[in-house]
Amino acid sequence: MQILTQSPFLLYSDGNGNIFEDTSLYVAGRSGWDALPIPVEDWILLPDGGQLYELPGRRGIGIDVETGEMRICDKGWAVAAFIPPAHTGLFMSAYETLPDAPTLPLFCYTAVGWFNDEMYVTAVRIEKDIRQEAAGYDCDKIEEGAAGLLKAYPHNRLVKHLMENCCMTYTCPAARNLSLGRWECPVPVSPACNANCIGCISFQPQEEEIFSTQDRLTFKPTAEEIVEFTVPHLETAAYPIISYGQGCEGEPLLMWETIRDSIIEIRKHTSKGSININTNGSKPDAVRALCEAGLNSIRVSTNSVRERIYTAYYKPNNYSFADIKESLKAARSYGAWTSINYFVFPGMTDSVEEYEALRDFIRETDLCMIQWRNFNIDPDWYLEKIDEADTGECIGVKQLQELIHEEFPHVQFGYFNPPIERIKGNFEADFAH
Ligand code: SF4
Repeated sequence: MQILTQSPFLLYSDGNGNIFEDTSLYVAGRSGWDALPIPVEDWILLPDGGQLYELPGRRGIGIDVETGEMRICDKGWAVAAFIPPAHTGLFMSAYETLPDAPTLPLFCYTAVGWFNDEMYVTAVRIEKDIRQEAAGYDCDKIEEGAAGLLKAYPHNRLVKHLMENCCMTYTCPAARNLSLGRWECPVPVSPACNANCIGCISFQPQEEEIFSTQDRLTFKPTAEEIVEFTVPHLETAAYPIISYGQGCEGEPLLMWETIRDSIIEIRKHTSKGSININTNGSKPDAVRALCEAGLNSIRVSTNSVRERIYTAYYKPNNYSFADIKESLKAARSYGAWTSINYFVFPGMTDSVEEYEALRDFIRETDLCMIQWRNFNIDPDWYLEKIDEADTGECIGVKQLQELIHEEFPHVQFGYFNPPIERIKGNFEADFAH
């Protein structure tokens, strides 16, 4: 890979989807509310599967190549990159937002620049696993696989939802892997949720300007429907995982009895693979019941490990931040693997206050893994909604990762739920499949 020796140049769009470089400006990066210079070593080539977005109503902020002064690019709209899974963004795109700018949809907006005919982004590859590499998806095989599953399970509402909606409409990477009979199989179960996340990807209130990226499940699957297609997947797929809790549903723990019954039935037929739940961690007792039934791993999503910031975003019904810690501790007490699905927001996640809270959180919960995910949300909208006018002193996302790794070397870093071969075996082994 070509190591940059200078900063890339800022990009702007003409508002019609055409993107140009402005060689009078180097790219600046956003952290919280601030625009900052970006260390040259923080740039990597835009990975395969990455996309560029023009940001209407926003002017890019750059660093004048002559004077070194920060200034606005008034040649067009700002540009950002959506970086593909397995990569964590280090800076967001820096821009000035004009008065009537529309709220941006629920994607991540990473800093991007141009140099020598190449696009560069500020990111690190945090996960070796290739399960969601863009190059790994063959559309013809996916279509064939989807048709095959629909034919094999003609009366299964969940298979119908996963293949017709998730795989063929939303192009969900997990549902596509199911159609290809490999790796992690999604098992959405809950039409309802007990949280009201500002950036919920399956439900957005009418009054909001933006839309959820997928519609929430509208029915309650039975344990029989779950067992019917998950047992063959666990039996035949490479590095098999089944995961309750997907982006197209509410909170799976609200359906814990159905999940418990399905796990018990699944384990009567196969001992293979890992049974995982992606959850908001709101119900520790339900987590205990699922671990007793045979749950192998749990991933709790969070935008922050500070209660104030968590509560302002999740707006929980009848549970609190303490419950998500209790759920992680409960799972550990049964020997289950525990991860946090950590929504990384430069300027918030790497604040000194968050860093200190994360150290305490890891110690208190005996956490196994941090999945460093990019926060898919409009930065201004998020900070305004949680009323965060000043994000405080920051240390940088890369340095945060280095400090946590140094102090807690046993805590694994990644982006995806690990297969049982990694949980039980040598985590570092090359599982590039
Ligand atoms: S916990 Fe999940 S489903 Fe519930 S509101 Fe938050 S993002 Fe949406």
